[in-house]
Amino acid sequence: MRPGPTGGVWVVVDHSGGEVDDIALEVLGQARELADRLGLSAAAVLLGDGVGGLAPGLGQCGADTVYLAESPLLAAYNPDAYTPLLADLIRRQRPSIVLWGATDQGRDLAPRVAVRLGTGLASNCTRVDLSEDGLLVMTRPVYGGKASCNVVCPQARPQMAALQPGAVPARRPDPSRQAQVVVVEVDLASQDLRLRLEKVIRIPPSALDVTEAEVVVAGGRGVGSAENFRLVEQLAHLMGAAVAASRPAVDAGWAPYERQVGLSGKTVAPRLYVACGISGVNHHVVGMRDSRAVVAINRDLQAPIFQIADLKIVGDLHELLPSLIERLRRLRQERGTAEDEEILRTLANVPAGRQVS
Ligand SMILES: Cc1cc2nc3c(=O)[nH]c(=O)nc-3n(C[C@H](O)[C@H](O)[C@H](O)COP(=O)(O)OP(=O)(O)OC[C@H]3O[C@@H](n4cnc5c(N)ncnc54)[C@H](O)[C@@H]3O)c2cc1C
Repeated sequence: MRPGPTGGVWVVVDHSGGEVDDIALEVLGQARELADRLGLSAAAVLLGDGVGGLAPGLGQCGADTVYLAESPLLAAYNPDAYTPLLADLIRRQRPSIVLWGATDQGRDLAPRVAVRLGTGLASNCTRVDLSEDGLLVMTRPVYGGKASCNVVCPQARPQMAALQPGAVPARRPDPSRQAQVVVVEVDLASQDLRLRLEKVIRIPPSALDVTEAEVVVAGGRGVGSAENFRLVEQLAHLMGAAVAASRPAVDAGWAPYERQVGLSGKTVAPRLYVACGISGVNHHVVGMRDSRAVVAINRDLQAPIFQIADLKIVGDLHELLPSLIERLRRLRQERGTAEDEEILRTLANVPAGRQVS
């Protein structure tokens, strides 16, 4: 698609369970900033069924306009429905930039829309900025996160980037802001949809790929044995986290290679990273330093991991892990679920450990 006169910086909104996902608010905050710098408007595109109630919140978080498309056929994500609808809307309104969250939906949908529009897409971006001549500069990791490159899309429009969760902070809502809601006509029939959602099967978070998990519990050499590593797995299971490992833990055969985090393993940026018996050598830290919060459990107060930890627990894992597991199990039994804050409180207050600030 050629450059359009309308311009505008758009965000395609991820939502679930009747709430806008954090990633959508992060990307919207970024869209607002870019729109202000370019002198353009910011818009959010909301697709779903009965989701109109989310529009005011999007206005408060930076959208000038909310394009609202509602239909029972849009209730669950279906690329057959979402792709033509979005491509048509973008073709008609001609935004200059479209931002996506690099979520499961964004990763599937954004390339489909890009192909329909004949434009480019930089996926998995860690940052977006503007060049001196107002082009979107999209920064994304390459070579397994060992380097990053800047991508621009000088000709085709819109310029499209999918941002990793946690890459940019969300804006604080401003209750005085209001968005104009533009209802988008949905011209779809169920016979147009080749795909049908039969059922949703939830993968246990502990089996998730470490790069996709929002919470990661990692074990290192300090865990001591394959048997003890099962305790790390139990802790991860109770926290709804994916299991990761340092290289020595993988070399010892306690965890498979695909769970290794670090220079020669994977790069992760979860909401919470719990490092158990990991010293924090740079080869490991490069793979997890973008985590939003880090909890480190180590018996050595001088361990370098403590330099990047938000919560530092000094103690022996052999005492701490069973005690933590017991407490979290009880918390789950009592409440059915455990929020991050409760988990952190439990980690911080485990009797065998000493929390240092
Ligand atoms: C080219 C190259 C690539 C590499 N790539 C990677 C990579 O991708 N990922 C990676 O992790 N490493 C990688 N490494 C290895 C890296 O240099 C470190 O050796 C490794 O990260 C250390 O792992 P660790 O922290 O588990 O072990 P250690 O450094 O041995 O640390 C163990 C920690 O456990 C603590 N501890 C011990 N016992 C207990 C206990 N009972 N309770 C509490 N704490 C305890 C100790 O105080 C210590 O801090 C690479 C190295 C090279 C040269």
